[in-house]
Amino acid sequence: MRIQWVGLPTDVNSSYRRGAAAGPAAVRAAWQRLLDFGNGSTEGGEELGCDFHVDDGGDLPLTETDADHERIRAHVQARAGLGPVLGVGGDHSVTFPIVEALAGLHGPLNILHFDAHADLYHDFGGNPRSHASPFARIMERGLARRLVQVGVRTWNAHNREQAARFGVEAVPWEGFAPERVPIPDDGPLYLSIDLDAFDPAFAPAVSHPEPAGLSSREVVAVLARIRGLVGADVVELNPGCDDRDHTAVLAAKLVKELCAAMARGRAP
Ligand code: MN
Ligand code: MN
Repeated sequence: MRIQWVGLPTDVNSSYRRGAAAGPAAVRAAWQRLLDFGNGSTEGGEELGCDFHVDDGGDLPLTETDADHERIRAHVQARAGLGPVLGVGGDHSVTFPIVEALAGLHGPLNILHFDAHADLYHDFGGNPRSHASPFARIMERGLARRLVQVGVRTWNAHNREQAARFGVEAVPWEGFAPERVPIPDDGPLYLSIDLDAFDPAFAPAVSHPEPAGLSSREVVAVLARIRGLVGADVVELNPGCDDRDHTAVLAAKLVKELCAAMARGRAP
């Protein structure tokens, strides 16, 4: 299994603090340190260089214009035949072109989305490409069969309306347990991780920290149940807000576990 890593250094569609454009380089540095220390094995025992390989395609030369959407979409489309695609952001707007490319190849995807925010705004501040809107774009184009959201704790009336309109499934906090997160298995699966899904104690380096979030163990426990991903992203790392690289190291750990979930292949 050869996983296609692509860095997406953009934060032009951020709505508050910029800085996520530096995310891909910080994740790559943390990933390299992890390998330098010989920690290429995953929680399930899959090993980098043995059970899976990572082809690092570097960072896309993004221009912070509307042309970036097509650049990302075309790159993912070209790489997806070589193996599952892993996008490292960048702000959350990058998910829309990745999903558009993969849905073009596989048909509508099942999406598992970790986030403090629903990201379903029709537009945010007049920007339909906002990092607060990617899942509205994905749903209105029919690119997803199911969208399951985990970790959302900022519901407002508009996002609730949008969720109802699109049939989004939000996992409730009441009685939350990783083993109760529904994982769709009836089609191609995509996973999107906005690092602000985590409690800021685990991931301080995000542009919109929202307390009372998920723990790293809870998310890893969900990832352990996943197999056969056609693609995934880890987004919204804002390294300038980090505390001794803790969030970047968490992002690198998530990359590793996502690779394992890709390498496990779909259930027969
Ligand atoms: Mn978020
Ligand atoms: Mn988000």
